[in-house]
Amino acid sequence: MYDIVVIGGGPAGLTAAVYARRAGKTVLVLEKDGFGGQITQSPRVENFPGFVSISGTELADRLLSQAMEQGAEVELEEASALRMDGADKTVVCASGATFAARAVILAAGAKPRQLGLAREAELTGNGVSYCAVCDGAFYRDGVVAVVGGGSSALQDALLLGETCRKVYLIHRRDSFRGEQALVSALKKRGNVELVLNARVRELLGGDELTGVVVEQSGGTRTLAIEGLFITVGGQPDLAAFAPLLRLDGAGYADAAEDCRTPTEGLFVAGDCRAKAVRQLTTAVADGAVAALAAAEWLDSL
Ligand code: NAP
Repeated sequence: MYDIVVIGGGPAGLTAAVYARRAGKTVLVLEKDGFGGQITQSPRVENFPGFVSISGTELADRLLSQAMEQGAEVELEEASALRMDGADKTVVCASGATFAARAVILAAGAKPRQLGLAREAELTGNGVSYCAVCDGAFYRDGVVAVVGGGSSALQDALLLGETCRKVYLIHRRDSFRGEQALVSALKKRGNVELVLNARVRELLGGDELTGVVVEQSGGTRTLAIEGLFITVGGQPDLAAFAPLLRLDGAGYADAAEDCRTPTEGLFVAGDCRAKAVRQLTTAVADGAVAALAAAEWLDSL
């Protein structure tokens, strides 16, 4: 029986583990893919206080080491359900493993949002990708496109521009919600073409992607590309825990700044919580708040 099981080993979950350990609680962090979460897909993070520039993977490694150094236990397991046993909880994993906890912090992050195009799933891994850091190297000297207008899409276009012959950046509006510093850097790149007020309507090709049809200014345009990087934000994946939470219309856990949920002893932190600003800094802030709230709740029992 752990005092606190943290579901999700991204910045919010690992920060929660550090704070919970320092509050004297036993802690287990469960992560389904790789510790660090989405930040591991950012080649350079330049807005995390204390680091002028650091790679997402290095930051993730440091967060994980810090949590383990403080005594948090970690397991690569996918939590697939949460069972209430009176006030205690059992985290049930996809592997069949179970972990008992007095309190749980849900820091499950968000998964990449899809465009919802015909054949999108079929072509994923055959030209369609949601991770430029993971798959960009396959398209060295090739022609690729990135879809999206947030900081992630801008970063992906910059990264791919370093190795690809040409990069199209397709965005549905004419202004970007991502950081202006990234927009300025992109505009200096000779091999990046902005395709604005545009939406991808069709994926072309047989077994492999060969192009996309884009709707732009009332007409359509075909772009011959080998790779399409879909970088249109994330969406939470809380279905397994929905009965214990209050979800907003977009599927995020509706919890106040104290990160408490309607279920006693269940707290929510990071990108899966409904909030206005989703940044590394707000994720780690949530981790700290949720851990301290959980520790206080445990001490009050
Ligand atoms: P985001 O900021 O939510 O941006 C998503 C983008 O995708 C928006 O431009 C949006 O268009 C577009 N989009 C959404 N649905 C679409 C659809 N169905 N079809 C076409 N376009 C669609 O997501 P993000 O870029 O992944 O960033 C997530 C958070 O992480 C943000 O807060 C960001 O600042 C942060 N971040 C930080 C760093 C860092 O280095 N510190 C790096 C990356 C991301 P509209 O603009 O028209 O809505």
